[in-house]
Amino acid sequence: MDLSSIVIVGGGAGGLELACKLGRKLGPDRVTLVDAKMYHIWKPSLHEVAAGTLDIHQEGLSYPMLAHNNGFNFVLGAMEGLNGRDRQVEIAAVRDDVGDEVLPRRVLQFGTLVISVGSQSNYFGVKGAQDFTISLDGPQQAESFRLKMLKHLATLDLRKKLDPSASLDIVIIGAGATGVELAAELREASHVHSRYGFSRIDAARDVTITILEGAPSILPVLPESVSSAALRLLEQRHITVVNNCRVVEISSKQVEDASGNRYKADLCVWAAGIKAPAWLANLGLPVNRNNQLEVEGDLRVKGEHHIFSLGDCAACVQPDGSMVPPRAQSAHQQADYIYKTILNAERGKAAPGKPYLYKDHGSLVSLGSRSSVGSLMGGLFKASSMFVDGFFARSMYASLHLMHHYAVLGGLKTFLLAMARFLLKRATPLVKLH
Ligand SMILES: Cc1cc2nc3c(=O)[nH]c(=O)nc-3n(C[C@H](O)[C@H](O)[C@H](O)COP(=O)(O)OP(=O)(O)OC[C@H]3O[C@@H](n4cnc5c(N)ncnc54)[C@H](O)[C@@H]3O)c2cc1C
Repeated sequence: MDLSSIVIVGGGAGGLELACKLGRKLGPDRVTLVDAKMYHIWKPSLHEVAAGTLDIHQEGLSYPMLAHNNGFNFVLGAMEGLNGRDRQVEIAAVRDDVGDEVLPRRVLQFGTLVISVGSQSNYFGVKGAQDFTISLDGPQQAESFRLKMLKHLATLDLRKKLDPSASLDIVIIGAGATGVELAAELREASHVHSRYGFSRIDAARDVTITILEGAPSILPVLPESVSSAALRLLEQRHITVVNNCRVVEISSKQVEDASGNRYKADLCVWAAGIKAPAWLANLGLPVNRNNQLEVEGDLRVKGEHHIFSLGDCAACVQPDGSMVPPRAQSAHQQADYIYKTILNAERGKAAPGKPYLYKDHGSLVSLGSRSSVGSLMGGLFKASSMFVDGFFARSMYASLHLMHHYAVLGGLKTFLLAMARFLLKRATPLVKLH
């Protein structure tokens, strides 16, 4: 049994950063990353992929390239099982679009296992939600939304010839960061589309965007100053927000709430909650009711010395009883904590000692390519939370994505890629048109 290998399953915001850092120290014979996909896209940018302002083919970073550059081994495939006694991870066969087997089912031996497979939409049993909404769970879903929107815009442009009152109605369920960012990005994209080829469409009038939120305000977990500033910006962009709205049923063309109100929806996006993948509950490891793996303060899965979990799929309770929120910020910090724990063990030193503590550095919400609002916490500013907006907030927001690229690509490549994208944006339309 090879107990020296470190297997990380899930190369997202947290897992990929961990694989890169460990790979650079220990090399490909020791560090393996498993992911169900061939390429990585930072999940917080998926609303841009959905709106077409970020091209999935330019943005995706291929795992084999990242593995080569950072010194880890990459295995393509979805984890589907665990043999804890023999320390084996079971990887499903990989099939192509027509179902032909490309890679067989495999088993990987591990000495240390890190599970960082992220999350997916939680539909809370709402009728029709799974069948009639699109969720930004991954790049494929975001790209599929973009293609559907293009198709609807093309049809609308034709319909406008016969019926000047025709519209494209988009409903987003959930006014957390995902829903709010998507709405603003879609509004910006719809303006660009009406300039390129869809000349009969007046975006602000003909593309209606409505956000339905169950809580009394949008961005309910953020400070009131951020929520009200974001609401103002959404209203300026002709985006309708309905608060205190509990969605009970969704069909192919409409959404109905608990008060009997009906909202026309040609396209409907579900952004109202997440849970960890269901298969995690079948591994024989402790999970909570959202399928998240229950971890101790040192991020080891409860009762398991050799298995860690981080990010959206881990349920980590803080000393004050609160849960670590499912955010890229937490996944990044937890990757750093596990990296230190593993490296200390490699060098025969003690583990960090203190349990992992989530440090909230604040939240930034993007409202299109020019605006962001948010709050920054502690450290940099003495106040417990400071409201930021305008150019400063926008620059801070952009820097988060760059910091992730820096962690996985290094300084020079991040700089070159940022420059290339800056130039490309000036040479091509703001949205992908094909
Ligand atoms: C539109 C949007 C905007 C967001 N904005 C922000 C923001 O501004 N700030 C913020 O902090 N957070 C934001 N988030 C949340 C943030 O993206 C997540 O909290 C973060 O990505 C979680 O990181 P992770 O490493 O746990 O999982 P992910 O980044 O989701 O990565 C999971 C990885 O696991 C892989 N995987 C899944 N199943 C398997 C399997 N069975 N076998 C192998 N691999 C598997 C996936 O392919 C993926 O690569 C946003 C999310 C969305 C959708």
